[in-house]
Amino acid sequence: MEVTGEKNTLICPVAFTPSDSIESVKDSPSIAMAAQVIKKGGLVAFPTETVYGLGANGLDADAVAGIFTAKGRPSDNPLILHIASPEDIHKIVTHVPRQAAHLASVFWPGPLTLVLPKADCVPEITTGGLDTVAVRMPSHPVALALIRACGVPLAAPSANSSGRPSPTEAAHVITDLMGKIDVILDGGSTGIGVESTVLDCTKARPVILRPGGVSQEALEKALGESVVISHHVVTTDGSVESLVSSPGIKYQHYAPKAPALLVKGGPPELFQELTRLALEWQEQGEIVGIVASTELGQYWQNEGIDTGKWQIAHMGSRHDLLEVAGNIYRCLRQLDETDATKILLESVSSKGLGLAIMNRLSKAAGHRIIGE
Ligand code: AMP
Ligand code: MG
Repeated sequence: MEVTGEKNTLICPVAFTPSDSIESVKDSPSIAMAAQVIKKGGLVAFPTETVYGLGANGLDADAVAGIFTAKGRPSDNPLILHIASPEDIHKIVTHVPRQAAHLASVFWPGPLTLVLPKADCVPEITTGGLDTVAVRMPSHPVALALIRACGVPLAAPSANSSGRPSPTEAAHVITDLMGKIDVILDGGSTGIGVESTVLDCTKARPVILRPGGVSQEALEKALGESVVISHHVVTTDGSVESLVSSPGIKYQHYAPKAPALLVKGGPPELFQELTRLALEWQEQGEIVGIVASTELGQYWQNEGIDTGKWQIAHMGSRHDLLEVAGNIYRCLRQLDETDATKILLESVSSKGLGLAIMNRLSKAAGHRIIGE
């Protein structure tokens, strides 16, 4: 037990292996205790297969208000309700269109969030005043066991301070929310490392509001038709507006403390440009932080580049997008621990999971992007 800040935040390890089913963790005393906390209106951070979530009873307006306060989240940014079995969706939405039901049958449990018309029992604070609600069934055994033990849908945004990179380890939650929440269930590193795909299913055709763990290609394959992505525009005053309504899109997200620049393109030009910028900034007296792939590291070695003055966070092989997704938020947080004054982010392919990675990198860079 550790105590800081206003609340006594309990940190409780929950043992499981990734292949564990819900059966193996459902009797965990930590989960039973955490469920009691949720039932009393408290806040519990827990691992999911995407990132750590900050959970509260999603049908209790006061409990949900606590999430917004702990995270410092703008009140018009709605929350996702997490359920433990697919049929529970009917308790919180009024209608499940055929396509949405099909997608749930294919991708649940998993990193797909469906936006549907909300039922009256879902408080307005949960949906940021919208008449729709976002719903997902996660696959992580700890998440499923917790939701089941609570017996209510859990509103659970990422368990970080609003605007900071999402947490993929309990240590990240501790950094951001210690003393602000009741319990942290420590289930080790999360698997996928980027958040769920948010899909608006209230229109004639589904629209991706946020790319995530389920790729556009996988959705299209399941539906047998193309799925559009909600494109957002950066307005002249620098704010970001979605062409389709998803309130979260306009807020800055995932941002490291030092200003970051995303460099697009493919090797070798990408490596040359990143290196040129790093050397130029170093010359100007900046302390350069770089989120770099294994391949970029090899390029520096082959070219005999002196990287000794740079702070380098390793995102893994640029050819293994699962590995990159799992590392990206940790890399951004790692650079925050250094004295880097300017950060360079290496781009990856936008195919498959790469679309979600590039979306997060672009937001981390505040949409400052160079290259093709
Ligand atoms: P987070 O909770 O941080 O994973 O973010 C949830 C994302 O889902 C945000 O981008 C929200 O804007 C989006 N979202 C949640 N509920 C809705 C909804 N009812 N309609 C549209 N977008 C939503
Ligand atoms: Mg978030």
